[in-house]
Amino acid sequence: MERYDIAIVGTGPAGVSAAITAKIRNKKVLLIGDGDLTKKMRQAHEINNYPGFPKVKGEDLARAMSEHLKQMEIDITEVKVVNIYAMGKYFSLQTTGDTFEAFSVIIATGVMPGKMIEGEEALVGSGVSYCATCDAPLYKGKDVIVAAYGKEEEKEVAFLAEVAKEVILFPVYNGEPEGLPSNVRVVKEVPSLIKREGPKMVLSTSQGNTYETDGIFVLRESVSPGALVPGLATQGAHIEVDRQMKTNIKGLFACGDITGRPYQYIKSAGEGNVAALSAVDYLAEN
Ligand SMILES: Cc1cc2nc3c(=O)[nH]c(=O)nc-3n(C[C@H](O)[C@H](O)[C@H](O)COP(=O)(O)OP(=O)(O)OC[C@H]3O[C@@H](n4cnc5c(N)ncnc54)[C@H](O)[C@@H]3O)c2cc1C
Repeated sequence: MERYDIAIVGTGPAGVSAAITAKIRNKKVLLIGDGDLTKKMRQAHEINNYPGFPKVKGEDLARAMSEHLKQMEIDITEVKVVNIYAMGKYFSLQTTGDTFEAFSVIIATGVMPGKMIEGEEALVGSGVSYCATCDAPLYKGKDVIVAAYGKEEEKEVAFLAEVAKEVILFPVYNGEPEGLPSNVRVVKEVPSLIKREGPKMVLSTSQGNTYETDGIFVLRESVSPGALVPGLATQGAHIEVDRQMKTNIKGLFACGDITGRPYQYIKSAGEGNVAALSAVDYLAEN
């Protein structure tokens, strides 16, 4: 398998900046994320604190960053990373598409909006999954529950319905689920607790009801850092880093909102630059 020098997860200003610096330093870069960069920029009405771009619309700044990537021949691989495993001398990245390998990794995933469901993180890999593509085959002919935190996840729900007997969908987003197969039952309640009871999984809701199933898929735009990388030191929703953007795992760096407040474009871009240079040093040392 092709092995990259630096895999960068996330295409906000942190990931984009890290990718540009890594490419300038002649590293073989894998940039994973959203082909349109980040909602948090596209949705910004007007930005006034990004140097060189006074009163810029978010979508225009995003376009400028996309153009910069294009000019530097940096492609975006549009998948979601669901697990990163430290394998000793390299990292393995499991995604909703292929599996990738890289000597170093930079996490630039932004902060996950909202809270996790109680019990979710402890049961990942043991009844709770973040990846329909990876884990659907385990539930052939069985029942599954999906807690979906964005309308774009309906594609994954439809795919699960092709494999599973019945899917109960909890849509935790605005708007009506549309065009789903007949074996998808929509329940408009808010998931609040997940637990295992023998071979079965049980999901409780804030409305006081419980639902039993074989497996639970929690589908969000991003995955909490603790669930993404086993053994990663975190503090609440954030990854612990030093001033070089190093995490507690050798060869693994983090930058942007995911390392803590303030949540700002320029702070994210600055940290992306530092993380890339630290990864370059790490590669040279190893
Ligand atoms: C409406 C709005 C207006 C704002 N206005 C300003 C402003 O005027 N000035 C300012 O400085 N800041 C502003 N902010 C804050 C700013 O948006 C954030 O600080 C900044 O976007 C953080 O950049 P980031 O690169 O760290 O993460 P993000 O921008 O959150 O990008 C993370 C990217 O990683 C992707 N991702 C996440 N998990 C995975 C995964 N597992 N696999 C693959 N990809 C993944 C996400 O889809 C996303 O594309 C605003 C925010 C909002 C919401």
